[in-house]
Amino acid sequence: MLNIVIFGAPGSGKGTQSERIVAKYGINHISTGDVLRAEIKNNTELGKVAKGYIDQGQLLPDNLIVDMLAAKLDSFEESKGVIFDGFPRTIAQAEALKQMLAARGQSVTVMLDLDVPEEELMERLIKRGQESGRADDNEETIKKRLVVYHSQTAPLIDWYKQEGQYAHIHGSGRLEDITAEICAAIDQK
Ligand code: ADP
Repeated sequence: MLNIVIFGAPGSGKGTQSERIVAKYGINHISTGDVLRAEIKNNTELGKVAKGYIDQGQLLPDNLIVDMLAAKLDSFEESKGVIFDGFPRTIAQAEALKQMLAARGQSVTVMLDLDVPEEELMERLIKRGQESGRADDNEETIKKRLVVYHSQTAPLIDWYKQEGQYAHIHGSGRLEDITAEICAAIDQK
């Protein structure tokens, strides 16, 4: 079983690289951001709650996200593994993931930290906002999301280093080169 955490600041390329990893390793993909955007589109109760947080660039409460993730994980049958994209984003979520996997006799194989310089993140997100119209990809919300990333999410780097699951990935440059570095890190585990 491969349980991969793809990690990085907003705009670091988690979604793009996840698609490539899914194609190569045949594992399932859970993007918490995509799940939440689908809930918003379908105007569900969770979607209504999520919209308020996402538009403000804030994280949803851990318990909501953890329950949502557990339900998604249970929906996979005969899975070869999972890539977790956009989760965990807090230490509490990382602890919950560890427990959830342990209850299934599993653990995180590797945490891939896509490292991209801050100026480049900003440029990529503004461009994505112009192309896709994603509501939270505007300059003001991007700035808030980067602050949230540094205060609540970046501490996971040390947490995963302590777990012995951390791998640093150079997240800027050619897409293929980044994918190659990611695959090397996965295959080493
Ligand atoms: P990005 O990595 O570009 O910020 P995502 O699509 O992963 O984009 O997330 C978009 C938004 O969804 C986040 O800013 C946050 O509000 C919410 N969200 C996604 N994943 C989580 C999570 N694990 N915990 C709390 N909130 C989350």
